[in-house]
Amino acid sequence: MTTIFSGSGEPTTLDDFTTTLLDDLYTATPDSSPISTDDATTAKTLLEEAGRTDLTGPILRLLQFLVFQKRDHRRNPDDFGISRQTLAELAIKHQRIDEHLVSAGGRLTQALPIAAQANERVDEYLARKDTEAPSGIELWDQILDHQERIKRALSMSDKSWNSFSGQIRHAIDSVDELAALIDLPADTLATMRRVTKTYRMRLTPYYTSLIMPGEVNDPIMLQSIPTGEMIDNAGVEIPPVAADHSPARLIDQFYPRVVTIKATNMCAMYCTHCLRIAHIGRKDQVYAKDAYGEALAYIRANHRIRDVLVTGGDALVLPNSMLRWLLAELDAIDQVKVKRLGTRIPVTAPMRIDNELLDIISASNDKKAIRMVTQINTAREITPVSKDAFRRLSKASFTVLNQAVLLKGINDTRVKMWKLCETIQEAYVRPYYIFNCSYRNPQFAHFRVPLAVGRDIVESMYGNISGDAIPRYIATAGGKIPLHRDNVDGFADNRYTLIKPWNGAAAGYPDADPDLYQKKDFAFARNNSGKG
Ligand SMILES: *Cc1c(COP(=O)(O)O)cnc(C)c1O
Ligand code: SF4
Repeated sequence: MTTIFSGSGEPTTLDDFTTTLLDDLYTATPDSSPISTDDATTAKTLLEEAGRTDLTGPILRLLQFLVFQKRDHRRNPDDFGISRQTLAELAIKHQRIDEHLVSAGGRLTQALPIAAQANERVDEYLARKDTEAPSGIELWDQILDHQERIKRALSMSDKSWNSFSGQIRHAIDSVDELAALIDLPADTLATMRRVTKTYRMRLTPYYTSLIMPGEVNDPIMLQSIPTGEMIDNAGVEIPPVAADHSPARLIDQFYPRVVTIKATNMCAMYCTHCLRIAHIGRKDQVYAKDAYGEALAYIRANHRIRDVLVTGGDALVLPNSMLRWLLAELDAIDQVKVKRLGTRIPVTAPMRIDNELLDIISASNDKKAIRMVTQINTAREITPVSKDAFRRLSKASFTVLNQAVLLKGINDTRVKMWKLCETIQEAYVRPYYIFNCSYRNPQFAHFRVPLAVGRDIVESMYGNISGDAIPRYIATAGGKIPLHRDNVDGFADNRYTLIKPWNGAAAGYPDADPDLYQKKDFAFARNNSGKG
């Protein structure tokens, strides 16, 4: 049966869902149990409220009550003295009240059960997210305690703590310094001494304060403190990306229109999973202007390049004067339309995001679009301080994108990754990529996560968290290769079968009509024909 609309566009008859609902309610059930006074009173009250109301709720509550009475006690609305005619009128009233003409039967028998089923998909996440993956905002009281302790141990003033130069001057780069700040077992310290002979360690005091002492496999420690595996992993190192992808000094290029300038080899904190581990080296280097000059000359001479990523190391290690100069140079190149700055500093040393820097970014963004690209791997890294840094960066640049690295034990579960993506979205950062940890370096083979796990994590986000918080899953293998699962499962009679990522259900999906697609003349062309 189709709904008939009166002249005013208002429904006057029942839709199919409501008709079926009423048919079910009024099916004869001879063996119904006697009605208690309580149930009779409830029915009477609900009926009166539904009759009086200008809202949809009371009508649904009456119908819901009658559905339960039928299901649990085999009672008909007649048993309560409610006629089919009365319910039909109330159902039409419901549909008239609802702005989108949703029928009482559709809402009760379709929409509410579908919503309830969808709710089940996220309940486990909601129950676990704050204990399994607490954000730095949720842990802030503890982090503040750590900060007080670390400040005292390093004799840092508040002023020094709150400045980037203070954070770098007091950065922790030896095992002894770290051992004085965090209680670590003797064998862990011995391994760290062995590994830091080969691999560089540097944590800002701020980043150190995010460590939860005593936590096994603390995700902040795993990201910042070299472990035995980095040396002991078997495997052959494949030469760093630059060896075969650097057409000019400081430049890496995979694509015709996007290049990176590795503007520095410094970072505020050195990551144990760093792709550029070979390039980071043992020692901070400041590059000569000549080096930048050659990189800029390469870009200037190549009319195809429109998007330039300034990375490192970390682009925000560069002093403000240098950044201002470099951005101005890029803005002056005709074909360059977009600049990106790659930085982890908002999570490792958020004090760096000062007003002068924000003014430089904002001014350059007014000339040509700028995007900040960051790396946040755990919700823990979003604290009130880093969130504020991202809020201000986002205001100055309009866009902050996150490139997370999928790392075993750090963020390789649905709960941890959903929480990360939601937390950064709330911190004004758009999840952009999740990188599979590289195969090139045996140093971080122990961090690698199977593709099937990564796909499950990313796929599980669809339909369960905001689409705007879902990143793309990427492998780097001489360029970025999407690993997204194919949701197309079969094609016949011009119809695809698509699989819904959130419940595996198939959805038939007719393709565009191929004959129609072949026709090149739109209505306008037909209208104009003969006038040419
Ligand atoms: C990541 C990267 C890019 C940028 O890739 P997008 O997909 O545009 O973000 C460009 N060049 C190199 C060398 C890169 O590593
Ligand atoms: S911030 Fe980036 S470049 Fe620096 S150590 Fe970490 S991953 Fe490497």
